[in-house]
Amino acid sequence: MPLHHTTPLLPSIPLQQRVNKAVWLKMESSQPSASFKMRGMGLAAERAVAAGATQLVSSSGGNAGYAVACAGRALSVPVTVVVPTTTDERMRSLIGSTGATVEVAGSVWDEAHQHACLIAEASGGALLHPFDHPDIWEGHASVIHEVHAAGLEPGCVVVSVGGGGLLTGVLQGMNAVGWTATRVLAVETAGAASFAAAHASGEPVQLESINSIAVTLGARRVCSEVLRRAQQHDVTSCVVSDAAAVGACVQFLDDHRVMVEPSCGAALSAVYDRHPDLMSVSGPVLVIVCGGAGVTRSQLETWAAALEVMP
Ligand SMILES: *Cc1c(COP(=O)(O)O)cnc(C)c1O
Repeated sequence: MPLHHTTPLLPSIPLQQRVNKAVWLKMESSQPSASFKMRGMGLAAERAVAAGATQLVSSSGGNAGYAVACAGRALSVPVTVVVPTTTDERMRSLIGSTGATVEVAGSVWDEAHQHACLIAEASGGALLHPFDHPDIWEGHASVIHEVHAAGLEPGCVVVSVGGGGLLTGVLQGMNAVGWTATRVLAVETAGAASFAAAHASGEPVQLESINSIAVTLGARRVCSEVLRRAQQHDVTSCVVSDAAAVGACVQFLDDHRVMVEPSCGAALSAVYDRHPDLMSVSGPVLVIVCGGAGVTRSQLETWAAALEVMP
């Protein structure tokens, strides 16, 4: 049995009013780990355990680490999550609350990842990469299969991009169900636009630094698979400001009473702010509401105040 849930597919009247066409929300915020990561990490964890792994190791201080922790708990397998020092106390204790061991190593993800590799080697555990693995993409692709099974064929899919695991899975799923004419709007924040840079130049580009509050989108370099797939499909890259992403989180909370991270607000802001692709496309818009556990009411208020977002 898969570890992820089949999530609600909801029509959004407030968003429909923005773009003058039907907008459907795929509510990945309803996953047990609060994000779509449960799909890919859940599948990767299940496969690793079926192949004999007695321990799972993750190097993500964000939603991927939390999803592995939730997966390990469901499978009764011990989990170690290595997080960089930048992962805040709340996220560390959230991951720890599942029973996972949280270790701190390095000041950036790359350093935490190296340490996680060592732990996996020493313990014989399975190291689950947060976005660059076929199991992850296959697991994420299930989000599209669910929408297809519900009978919806969108004109455009709106999706956030960090390391590109979600977008790869979405494109893989779209290919499998035959949505060849459906466009994709791939959204990032300006300080984390590694997909935009790579899409423009045709090859993965390593960003110097990440400068966005949407830390979940902060992969300095996207996986090469996402570029390969994006070159075979009609994908538009869209870069929004942190303020737009946070503004969309606040508006979405009021409109749908669901709290999401700015990484998800980025995708929502493309609809709230009437991206030209969404105005011109015929057929409904599907938004992958990717969710995220890295947000609280007070944190959202702090971001909104710092970025002068009007409620
Ligand atoms: C991981 C994540 C992303 C980015 O996904 P990638 O697979 O890294 O592109 C966006 N939003 C949320 C909430 C996430 O957890």
